Amino acid sequence: MNQYIEETNKGLIHTYNRFPVVLEKGEGVYLYDTAGKKYLDFAAGIAVCGLGYGNEELNQALKEQIDCLTHTSNLYYNTTCGKAATALLRIAEMDRVFFTNSGTEAIEGALKSARKYAWKKGTGRYEFIAMEHSFHGRSIGAVSVTGNEAYRTPFEPMLPGVRFAEFNDLDSVKEQITDKTCAIILEPLQGEGGINQASKEFMEGIRSLCDQEGILMICDEIQCGMGRTGSMFAWQSYGTKPDIMAMAKAIGSGLPVGAFAMTKEVAEYSLEPGDHGSTYGGNPLACAAVAKTVEIFEREDILAHVRETGAYLEERLTALAAESDEILEQRGTGLIRGIKVKKPAGEIIQRALDKGLLIISARDNVIRLVPPLIIRKEQIDEMIEKLKAVL
Ligand SMILES: *Cc1c(COP(=O)(O)O)cnc(C)c1O
Repeated sequence: MNQYIEETNKGLIHTYNRFPVVLEKGEGVYLYDTAGKKYLDFAAGIAVCGLGYGNEELNQALKEQIDCLTHTSNLYYNTTCGKAATALLRIAEMDRVFFTNSGTEAIEGALKSARKYAWKKGTGRYEFIAMEHSFHGRSIGAVSVTGNEAYRTPFEPMLPGVRFAEFNDLDSVKEQITDKTCAIILEPLQGEGGINQASKEFMEGIRSLCDQEGILMICDEIQCGMGRTGSMFAWQSYGTKPDIMAMAKAIGSGLPVGAFAMTKEVAEYSLEPGDHGSTYGGNPLACAAVAKTVEIFEREDILAHVRETGAYLEERLTALAAESDEILEQRGTGLIRGIKVKKPAGEIIQRALDKGLLIISARDNVIRLVPPLIIRKEQIDEMIEKLKAVL
């Protein structure tokens, strides 16, 4: 196995410090490596595999789609794409959607949509306000609005016209507003940035600021959306409907698919034929995954399950934090939780791996728990036992 890892590392560009584990198979909330070792998965492929692994109904739908058609390009219509669009727009409460192949591309599309809107209205606005500690992806556009200097600096110059404000600090946002502000982009719950939940006042404040000043509100729901917080999309728990939203990760249950969506008011002045495109975007196979994922989420009432197991997870983590000197704080909501630890998170994650528990970090000192949304209480107990042993 070590030889396999060595060989692989010779070929791949070294952008990741991978764990020395070769995963082969998944079943429910468990993963197995090539040596047959079993892992309880609290990472879900970075908040992607909401339905866990080996969901028969999903797999069947994908197999049927493969046998039918996997790619057509966007020059033609396809019924699977239509089905996915209708389902996604309904749960997102949006009016128009564009399918992408990743979260980063969904962000690019959202930024372009906002600029096009301002351009067509002739407002002369082009600036974006983004939040410190945000994460929006790795393309030049997405990294330009990402509030992490280390991700931006080697690739400068960044996109012009981006200003940063403090998350959960409305005054700091107000300070960055100019007559050129086109949109404010934020995650209702910052994932990568350390599991930071927006306060109700902040979300409502941003919404009213945008309304007063003629600024578009863009919500990045890529990580916190699709049921993870116990609402289908995180903004819905605040009642602060954005003008544009970006989705990805869990919407395709593991197939590479993202989307950006907008209200019809924005759509009226935004992207037109020729403005944007994607060869694979809206690919029937990816769309079959989206349509089936939404169907299963609704039929199985995944949201109710997330609320219930999320509350249980909070209870267990609160108790663990009370008895462990290593835990400084636990935060988050639903099935997206952060544990702030004293030791570097990397050390704890490595030891958890040895014990057969997959967890990830969110900044250096926060452990991020984003299990498949189908996790059960006894599996939360199992995770707590393992984590306790590791701490
Ligand atoms: C993962 C993530 C992205 C980027 O998505 P990719 O599919 O990796 O391009 C953007 N925003 C947030 C909030 C994310 O968590």
